[in-house]
Amino acid sequence: MDDTPQDLARLLGEAEHAIALTGAGMSTESGIPDFRSPGGVWEKHDPTVVGSLSVFLSQPELFWQFHRPRIDMIASVDPNPAHHAIAALERSGHLRAVVTQNIDRLHARAGSRDLIEVHGSLDRGHCLRCESDLTLEETVRRADAAEDGVPRCECGFQLKTGVVQFGEALPASAIQAAHDHALRADLILVVGSSLAVSPVNQMAQMVVDGGGRLAILTEGDTPFDDIASVRLRGRAGVQLTEVVQALGI
Ligand code: NAD
Repeated sequence: MDDTPQDLARLLGEAEHAIALTGAGMSTESGIPDFRSPGGVWEKHDPTVVGSLSVFLSQPELFWQFHRPRIDMIASVDPNPAHHAIAALERSGHLRAVVTQNIDRLHARAGSRDLIEVHGSLDRGHCLRCESDLTLEETVRRADAAEDGVPRCECGFQLKTGVVQFGEALPASAIQAAHDHALRADLILVVGSSLAVSPVNQMAQMVVDGGGRLAILTEGDTPFDDIASVRLRGRAGVQLTEVVQALGI
């Protein structure tokens, strides 16, 4: 039998240093499809191709054809009850930090403060040649003004966003911060991640190896289900709202 939101509330209440690790399933209730669920992005495009550094470098038009509409789609949605519950858990001291694989800024918009975005974020334009940063608005303006739909830096090189692409290194400072939290954590709460993407999924194993507990809340299976102390299935927004209520915050 599956565990209940009250079981998760109990673990959070007992923990001294709990952290959350979130993935694309956090944001499906906001209307952003995840990659691997039925109807997810993977059924139409292979993100490892259209979201790769090599396509960005060799076929920037194809790269921007995929990414330009996603910027509008993400700008048009709002944080959902799951994001608000995670922010409430941090405000009440039940969570120390939120490590997210998401790039959609919805945790920040819901009020999460100690937020570690390990795959970067859709917050700016960036030039890989001269390392300039531009606002996302200016990047979009340049994309829309360009005949081929590719925004370009002053130096002439094509711009990408602040999102880490497949084939690109993860931001070292974010990975270090996530690693430091995992070493100290006595509870890691995974929400909406298939735990299929390395190296972030190794955080779950690190916490358990260090004597901490693992709680997982996702609709689908993960390779770490057998070592979870609490395993919740179902919609993140519904389940986390019940957790917040059970804790009386
Ligand atoms: P994933 O697609 O591999 O897994 C998502 C998991 O969440 C699945 O197990 C699914 O069953 C579950 N899920 C979907 N909706 C849910 C809900 N409402 N409540 C609870 N569980 C739900 O996602 P991933 O592990 O994050 O890996 C995909 C990669 O792509 C990551 O790097 C991720 O950041 C990125 N991505 C980000 C976004 C975003 O920023 N919103 C969207 C798509 C993909």
